[in-house]
Amino acid sequence: MKNGNRLKLLILNLFLCTFTYAQNTNFVEKIHGFHLWTKGAAVGASERLLFNSVLAKALADIKAMDFVVQLQAQGELAVILDASWKHSSAYWDESLRDPKGHRAIVVAPSALSSSWQVKQLLIHEFMHMYHHNLRPHDEGWVQEGVALLSEYVYTGNYNVHIDSGFLFPELSLNTVLQTDQQSSVENPNLRVALYGQVGLFFIYAFKQCGGMTFYKALFDSKNTEKNGIEFLNKIFSKTNLESCSTFPSLFKKFSIARFEGSVLPGYLKSPLRDEKIQLDPYSSSAYKISKGEQCEDHEIHLKEQNACVRIRLQ
Ligand SMILES: [Zn+2]
Repeated sequence: MKNGNRLKLLILNLFLCTFTYAQNTNFVEKIHGFHLWTKGAAVGASERLLFNSVLAKALADIKAMDFVVQLQAQGELAVILDASWKHSSAYWDESLRDPKGHRAIVVAPSALSSSWQVKQLLIHEFMHMYHHNLRPHDEGWVQEGVALLSEYVYTGNYNVHIDSGFLFPELSLNTVLQTDQQSSVENPNLRVALYGQVGLFFIYAFKQCGGMTFYKALFDSKNTEKNGIEFLNKIFSKTNLESCSTFPSLFKKFSIARFEGSVLPGYLKSPLRDEKIQLDPYSSSAYKISKGEQCEDHEIHLKEQNACVRIRLQ
């Protein structure tokens, strides 16, 4: 992170110490143990219908999930529907509180369009809260990876942005991602691609490197001194699986798989470029070659596509 950005973040954090919703925030009702609030206009009949049919169903679905039960045991939870929130479908920040001081997540009412998506949205945001309690020092991209993977673990469905994760393999996997509302990546399309890519990597690691054993290790609060790649390396080193034994070995396998179409079999592939691209750390790119042309020594030849994959580790 550049010094300027670090300073900006520090200033932002000072303002955010605790962010309590107060003005124009109205209590609606308590649904399935969650305090529900709306910010802005009073709740009309049609909105109440939406709460009951979509949000209430999603809250009923998540209330018995183990991590939600544990969060509730530490103190009551709130959902604030904020129509003025435009940056994403929902967000969580450790400082967020409802007017009564309960820990809260914010959801944009426009996101209440389908109940399965809302369910994943709630799992994602409450998982940030839960994971942060255990590993508050984890890097942003790992926090997002855990939340995105959790959507899949608890529902069997991928995040809606997972498709975008295939689009730009040239993006650095461990780019600084803060929380859902702040990010070092300004362009919204690239930001979504980056989130999707982090989700893809974590789902791939889950499937390749021990499933629930891998997932549970992500919450290990004892490794307080390690985070990011170093932390994942430590988890992988315990798998006894050759391709998962280190972060670089798995990243390499993942990078080839995304061009072969085997990250999520039968799904999408990352696109091939017409030329070689200079890479940032932990990114990859593949370019087409003509018949008779050869890949460079450090590149991997994809026979079927007649293309060369270049991978940059650190
Ligand atoms: Zn998130």
